[in-house]
Amino acid sequence: MKFATRVIHAGMEPDPSTGAIIPPIYQTSTYVQAAPGQHKGYEYARSQNPTRTALETALASIENARYALSFSSGVAASDAVIRLLVPGDEVIAASDMYGGTFRLFSKIFEKAGIHFHYVNMQDVNNIRPLINAKTKLVWTETPTNPLMNVVDLDAVASICKEKKLLFCVDNTFASPSLQNPLDFGADIVIHSATKYLGGHSDVIHGCLMLNDLSLRDQLYFIQKSCGAVPGPQDCFLVLRGIKTLQIRMQRHCENGEKVAHWLRGNKKLSAVYWCGFEDHPGYAIAKKQMRGFGGMISFELKNDSPEETKRVLSSTRLFSLAESLGGVESLISHPASMTHASIPREERIKNGLSDALIRISVGIEDADDLIADLQQAIG
Ligand SMILES: *Cc1c(COP(=O)(O)O)cnc(C)c1O
Repeated sequence: MKFATRVIHAGMEPDPSTGAIIPPIYQTSTYVQAAPGQHKGYEYARSQNPTRTALETALASIENARYALSFSSGVAASDAVIRLLVPGDEVIAASDMYGGTFRLFSKIFEKAGIHFHYVNMQDVNNIRPLINAKTKLVWTETPTNPLMNVVDLDAVASICKEKKLLFCVDNTFASPSLQNPLDFGADIVIHSATKYLGGHSDVIHGCLMLNDLSLRDQLYFIQKSCGAVPGPQDCFLVLRGIKTLQIRMQRHCENGEKVAHWLRGNKKLSAVYWCGFEDHPGYAIAKKQMRGFGGMISFELKNDSPEETKRVLSSTRLFSLAESLGGVESLISHPASMTHASIPREERIKNGLSDALIRISVGIEDADDLIADLQQAIG
């Protein structure tokens, strides 16, 4: 089945007790057994919940995966992946990635004896010199948050295959509608479903998608043992969001393209970052591994004083100043003080993330209204 059909039908079995077309929100903590051990596959809701099962079926289907696990947040899903490792293990991670992932790695897991190397993965040759006998996992994001750099998934996957390393890709920015990393050889895909999958800025949720059963069982064991499970209402909301994922992404892409080109023509800006520009360094790779370029754009003002950056951030009317992305409504944010504040300043600047960088998540409103709003704010 094609993607647009799967987002609507995957996981959607009529409810066995009533025929309800939509999986009900099974708001229960436990399930009654007929005799000890005699149950219907559901024992206790930290381990299983039918609303969650329906969502996991849909999530696996749309990411071309055999299995999916659904978590209480994107960060909880990332946490479970790193818990596969033991003290002494090493991870090679992209230097340009979500600030919360960097915080989890550097502030929580370094303490537990896991060591992280950060490299610029736009050049995959940077990876090999860091591989040693302790290396277990390569972690990347593409396009990256917030600089919209592109990482060649095929190339990184072949290094990981050769060196027998796990390869995990954070696919939050592209969403399964635009990119499927497992098809390029990744072992695990992680999403913050809080963003495009949920799509309506009303839920925190995360997930993992993968093909290997033994890896799935290890991650499920970690989840059950650590307890970062989503509630059934949250699963319901993500399931509902997924139904319009394809049609929303089409509009995010159309609007993203219009806004990106308009920004590029604006004399007050010094740089615009969007991976759909033909002269973007990662354009050819993006074209190869993505089906569209999405609605995430960053830019810098020529007048990059803190006052002017702050003035623009506070002047939009349709673009709300807030963290997060991927909802139907447009957002504007300041990575240096918001989503990426947990990365030390020198580290940020070294990676190209300046204090003047402004990031926008282009929603699905009318593009003319969005452009008019940016026009009046930038001046
Ligand atoms: C938001 C985000 C996360 C973290 O997800 P939460 O749902 O907020 O826990 C991870 N990766 C990326 C790229 C994100 O944008």
